[in-house]
Amino acid sequence: MSSTVIRNVRPLGREAVDVVLTQGKISSLLPVNSADPALATLIDGQGQLLLPALVESHCHLDKTLWATPWRPNSAGPTRNHRISNEQRLLKDFKVPMAERAGPLIEHCIAQGSLYYRSHLDVQTVWGLQHVKDMLALREKYKHLIDIQLVAFPQGGLLTVPGTVELMEQAMDLGVDVVGGIDPAGIDLDPIRHLEKIFSVATRYQSGIDIHLHDLGEMGRWEIERIADMTDDQGMQGQVMISHAYALGAFPPADLHALADRLAELQISIMTCAPPHVTVPPVTMLRSRGVNVCSGSDGIRDAWSPMGNGDMLERAMLMALRFNWSKDEDLAAAFDVVTQGGAKALHISDYGLDVGCAANLMLIPGENLPDVVLNRSPKRTVISRGKVVAKDGVFMAG
Ligand SMILES: [Zn+2]
Repeated sequence: MSSTVIRNVRPLGREAVDVVLTQGKISSLLPVNSADPALATLIDGQGQLLLPALVESHCHLDKTLWATPWRPNSAGPTRNHRISNEQRLLKDFKVPMAERAGPLIEHCIAQGSLYYRSHLDVQTVWGLQHVKDMLALREKYKHLIDIQLVAFPQGGLLTVPGTVELMEQAMDLGVDVVGGIDPAGIDLDPIRHLEKIFSVATRYQSGIDIHLHDLGEMGRWEIERIADMTDDQGMQGQVMISHAYALGAFPPADLHALADRLAELQISIMTCAPPHVTVPPVTMLRSRGVNVCSGSDGIRDAWSPMGNGDMLERAMLMALRFNWSKDEDLAAAFDVVTQGGAKALHISDYGLDVGCAANLMLIPGENLPDVVLNRSPKRTVISRGKVVAKDGVFMAG
């Protein structure tokens, strides 16, 4: 049986070992320099850190303008302005999605991300074209990465007639998760919005991932209602709240009861830890057992030219947002973009133990905090046991 040996690597910065990969899995961890090189393809780890592949838990691959000429941002100041601006821009955009999102996916793979949850616009202005294009792209890269797709009613669910039916058609075509957006702020009818997405998710036996930017008391009330419905529908472990800005509007100690409820219902919180708005108190949430994951959100799109798809940079930005400098906090930021994402996305064979998928990254550094802060571009990425990127450059076809 052909195997690959990665010689002399330090799992998460610990003592050096040799790692044997067989049939796309980690088959053994051996004392350093003890694996027989004659029996296997050899990768010289050179004492680098060995990490599990990064998890991009929230992006919008379909929206990106990646690999196209620089375009000054033309969006207005409000969320509704940005939605209509994007509709205008993408409607007549000459570069098809595959030629924007494809290169972005390859770029993200080269940064070490091999697991993705991408929201996918389901809007009547696009019909099902966005969905079909993204499903084709997922098929193209399925030998390298796992992509979960969320049917995302960006323009509104109830306020735009025909969107619910389009969401159901997207689910019929193979989209995995039911999305939602600001039940109050965008859809103006929070209970009906939530009832609808829970009803569609129950029918398709899928999870839910809702964008919740609604702020303050309103947002907190909506989070409580999401918890109620998760409980009522028996959807423990199937719901993610993305952004949840409202959780940042209160002293963390006031949110302990709500955090305990989220933990009990296994509702994950996704935060990009942006600097311009209140954000969920990650340390408190994790200390109460709430799973927290992170993502890039938009990557160079009509909403913003920001973003580069590097989830190590996202971990650093999280640390910056919370003024974290202790080793344990920097390691926690790394945990959010790895184990937190794996838990939220239900990746069962994730990690560095024997039997885990050989989806890995080698990167120079002293330890995890050093890796998060330095973010070396010299990354070797291994997907299903094979090297697919070296020195930050995508190699696989
Ligand atoms: Zn988003």
